[in-house]
Amino acid sequence: MQKPVVKNNHSRVIDIINWAENHFLLNGFNNARKEIEWLLEEILDCKKLDLYLRYDEELSVENLKILHSWINRRIKKEPLQYITESCEFFGRKFFVNDNVFIPRPETETLIDIALSVIESDSNQNVLDICTGSGCIAITLAKELNNPNISAIDISNKALDIAMLNAKNHDVYINFEQKNILIDTYKNKLDMIVCNPPYIPMNEMDSLMDDVKLYEPRIALTDGSDGLSFYKRINDLAPLLVVPGGYILLEVGLNQHPQFVKDILDDKLYSQIEIVSDLNGDPRILKALVN
Ligand code: GLN
Repeated sequence: MQKPVVKNNHSRVIDIINWAENHFLLNGFNNARKEIEWLLEEILDCKKLDLYLRYDEELSVENLKILHSWINRRIKKEPLQYITESCEFFGRKFFVNDNVFIPRPETETLIDIALSVIESDSNQNVLDICTGSGCIAITLAKELNNPNISAIDISNKALDIAMLNAKNHDVYINFEQKNILIDTYKNKLDMIVCNPPYIPMNEMDSLMDDVKLYEPRIALTDGSDGLSFYKRINDLAPLLVVPGGYILLEVGLNQHPQFVKDILDDKLYSQIEIVSDLNGDPRILKALVN
């Protein structure tokens, strides 16, 4: 008599979801079901709904191996974006690994503002400071018609990734390695955009493990009060940006927006305002250079 085929319960999509949800829960994850759904969506390159339409499908041995290694990495709190080497920003996929800060949805507000003040066909000179993965510079290059975008970062490893992302998205950006706290840059810019490392050194310990243990330290904190980049940009922007040009700077939560606003010299800037992100949190400082 033929032996019944023994089904491996943990290779069907639905069984994996149920098993892994429990596994994540036991390991202290709050969104246990979401964690496994995200990993499966990436492995199967599909949307959440499709996981449930394909619930009976078995994963290949190859995919099961990858999935198990991903689950083990996630259990150690490695961010999902580093595990899958991918992050979505303004509707586009960017390659990321632990050499770059993971693009955040809040930063999309900076893009919205930039697009609302730049005339789309006007050959504007924009500089992205602390470009990291290049998400801001590359998104602006994609959204604008004829831009002239430059981007700098202190980290050569980050610049390698930004260049790869620019290539993947088929845009030209003038990338350069620079430490803006010391170096300067060419002038006649129309706009400076920057999402600097703004977490004060003394708040680093209170960050989530996912962030603290994995994201590059130099992309998170200036090693000081979290305000170094704003102080430097306050001094530098009037020399680099033409009168009537803009600076758009991302800021942190709590007292941070007000601290940053106070740094800006109102003899050098006008129309200083802080625009809120989609969560309603004050997030992007916008100012016109006099
Ligand atoms: N500009 C990049 C971003 O917003 C990197 C920012 C950073 O490294 N602090 O994602």
